Amino acid sequence: MHVIIIGAGTGGLSLAHGLKRAGISCAVYERDRTRGGGLQGYRVGIDPDGSRALSRLLPPGLFDTFVATCARSGDRFNVFTEKYKEVLSLTGFATSGADGAGAERSVSRMTLRQVLLTGLEELVHFDKVFTRYEQDPDGTVTAHFEDGTSATGDVLVAADGSHSRVRRQYLPHAPLEDSGLIGITGKVPLTEETRTLLTPQVIDGVNMFLAPGGYSLVIHVMQFPWDERGRPRQGIGASDTELLDAWPGLQFDNTRDYIMLAFGGAARNLPADVLRMNGRQLHDLTVGLTRTWDVRLRTLAELADPSTCFPLNIRTSAPIAQWPTSNITLIGDAIHTMTPGRGVGANTALRDAELLCAKLVSARDREVPLIPAIRDYETQMIDYGFEAVRKSLAQMRGSDPVHKPVLGRAVLAGMRTGMRVVNHLPPLKRRMAAAAQQYRGHDRGA
Ligand SMILES: Cc1cc2nc3c(=O)[nH]c(=O)nc-3n(C[C@H](O)[C@H](O)[C@H](O)COP(=O)(O)OP(=O)(O)OC[C@H]3O[C@@H](n4cnc5c(N)ncnc54)[C@H](O)[C@@H]3O)c2cc1C
Repeated sequence: MHVIIIGAGTGGLSLAHGLKRAGISCAVYERDRTRGGGLQGYRVGIDPDGSRALSRLLPPGLFDTFVATCARSGDRFNVFTEKYKEVLSLTGFATSGADGAGAERSVSRMTLRQVLLTGLEELVHFDKVFTRYEQDPDGTVTAHFEDGTSATGDVLVAADGSHSRVRRQYLPHAPLEDSGLIGITGKVPLTEETRTLLTPQVIDGVNMFLAPGGYSLVIHVMQFPWDERGRPRQGIGASDTELLDAWPGLQFDNTRDYIMLAFGGAARNLPADVLRMNGRQLHDLTVGLTRTWDVRLRTLAELADPSTCFPLNIRTSAPIAQWPTSNITLIGDAIHTMTPGRGVGANTALRDAELLCAKLVSARDREVPLIPAIRDYETQMIDYGFEAVRKSLAQMRGSDPVHKPVLGRAVLAGMRTGMRVVNHLPPLKRRMAAAAQQYRGHDRGA
């Protein structure tokens, strides 16, 4: 069996590792020209399920490297007003699972990609822009690329992200919709000075600041492992010099600690050209939006490096019914793009990779014929994947009172009051923390 994977992102590379480990022949075709191309620098949270999937798919040494490149795990989930007043603070998020898969891990997306590319040098083909596929009379499938070349295999896996060209050809009725929400990212170096803008509680967790008008700010503090002399650990998580030359700015520097800012707002409240704005314009926009916020939050917006500010049009897949199975299948954002509401897009892509890998192994071992094996993968994936899409959208809209236009400010005030009540009742708080962990994505009974 030879498997063709389109896209060297989180899902595609993890699947390739799993197949390689199981002795199944595969090749990955990626449109980026080099291993450092096309990267946007933001933090990705890998939950215990994602960690477990990685530990099963990656070679053991590489999984250890992944763990070593993660930032320190926070223990809290905090909600504040835009005036920096605590509304809710839940703890217990850094507890290790019984199987050692550990707590939620924070990793820089660029570092994760460098880790995942390691050991696959022979299998990943860069500068291959997929254009279309053909199902061949002999049962194989051929992928065609923009440079006129092609590749043939027994199975084609679409791992080409939310704008998947494979999906557009294979499932043209599967739509991608705007959520009506826009995100704007920014990074601030973590220094003695910027540390004073954060409370110890903020440093130790995931933080959401809710403001009137449907605006929000999520803050993650990324603190990386240092060597015994307090210097950045060389090699691990370091950016290629070549990369830094090509892309100056903090965006590709993963050896220093930083504060990740993610602003959110309703598209209709933001300038019509927000998605076309450059880093400097986005920086100025967020400074303007935080004008009436607590001075520490305003200062963070001002200190964000404009080269790290980019806009995100937050899109979401619309669930579709199961389709007739073939030797073409999809994983990750290619089939279930979701809002970052619950932070589980990458984790779900990892779950897909692990499940599909297991099904392909059972087909290779002749325990199940190939098409029923793929169908079984798709049946399960459609169920949990679209459930994650639905919950992620609800989560984002729940924190956006603009989507409830009748109630508006009243909803925000009600939410804040409800959270404050919970914050003062320890037993309720403990129940909410447990429920939050369950809801957050650890739905597999972990
Ligand atoms: C700001 C932000 C924060 C996020 N935070 C989290 C988080 O905390 N936790 C979490 O779980 N998820 C998070 N996500 C979501 C997560 O990043 C995605 O769900 C995840 O990357 C999906 O993986 P994937 O492999 O399906 O697609 P991708 O990682 O997008 O990879 C797709 C690959 O396909 C390639 N490709 C595309 N088209 C072609 C083509 N025609 N030919 C060849 N190659 C092609 C692309 O270049 C890319 O390398 C976040 C997303 C954003 C935007």
